[in-house]
Amino acid sequence: MSPTPFSSSPSVALNTGLQMPLLGLGTYKLCGLQDVYRAVDAALCAGYRAFDSAAVYRNEAELGKALRALLPKYGLTREDVFITSKLGPKDQGEKAMEGALHSWSQLDLDYIDLYLIHWPGTQGLPVGDERNPGNRAQSWASLEELHGQGKLRNIGVSNYTPAHMRALMQSCKVPPAVLQVEFHPRLCQPELMSLCKQYGVCFQAYSSLGKGELLSDPVMLDVAKNCERTPAQVLLRWALQQGVPVLPKSSNPERIQRNAEVFDFTLSDTDMDRLSALDCGQRFCWDPSEVA
Ligand code: NAP
Repeated sequence: MSPTPFSSSPSVALNTGLQMPLLGLGTYKLCGLQDVYRAVDAALCAGYRAFDSAAVYRNEAELGKALRALLPKYGLTREDVFITSKLGPKDQGEKAMEGALHSWSQLDLDYIDLYLIHWPGTQGLPVGDERNPGNRAQSWASLEELHGQGKLRNIGVSNYTPAHMRALMQSCKVPPAVLQVEFHPRLCQPELMSLCKQYGVCFQAYSSLGKGELLSDPVMLDVAKNCERTPAQVLLRWALQQGVPVLPKSSNPERIQRNAEVFDFTLSDTDMDRLSALDCGQRFCWDPSEVA
């Protein structure tokens, strides 16, 4: 294991000492080998070196297969890419070891760079059920064990609230390397962001484009017009300029390419402030705030 930065992609150092690229391709809703292969091909060509999958996306096997086929085309090896996957909510608790090993064997890439607990709750339990905290702790212990074996190089969590994070930090042997949450100008998550800073956990954004819905926001269109960039590039740059890694999803090769052109311009302080002022707590994804 080496902490060597990714050659063609800016990266951030995690608390394990390993690097994670700041830009990754989201793969939610990329299904079937043909679609996954086409998107991974376009992404590698555009310089993406990270890919975000999950057990519930049902594309881990296709992602692993596409990478094994495509890495040589770009003169790359396994060490040149960073693969994330996540434990499904149905495997939270006593089935976590089995669930994580299933992801590991589906991807079939020797190791997973980052493995996250996808959701603080357990599928099948009411959100307020008091068994949720125990199940999370059991899942975390399984991830710690697989981290110790080298199968999961970094471990982390997703969709945790400040309360979930505080409990984990008090009980863990290995601290989470990453917290992946919904983050965009309409959901700025200041409490979680400062908690991550305090704990040395990397705060990573998902749904930076608001699942596409933020691309037509009038302020976004105005900022994009003024700086001659696409609305998607503005949204990604807004996060990156705060040091937050992003995972835009697209199945379209041209958009995959354009979404990667985010390291050669800077948003002014005024534009950053105009975008951050849109914060209204709006979510385009699931809300974990009621999960016990
Ligand atoms: P997103 O990245 O905010 O938006 C994706 C949508 O925007 C797609 O419909 C895509 O359509 C469209 N799009 C992308 N680039 C575009 C462009 N340049 N112009 C116009 N439309 C564009 O949504 P997301 O998939 O929710 O989030 C990204 C990734 O984060 C996911 O794929 C997943 O890996 C991760 N995620 C994690 C969680 C979690 O619970 N941990 C939850 C949600 C997402 P086309 O494909 O047609 O381009």
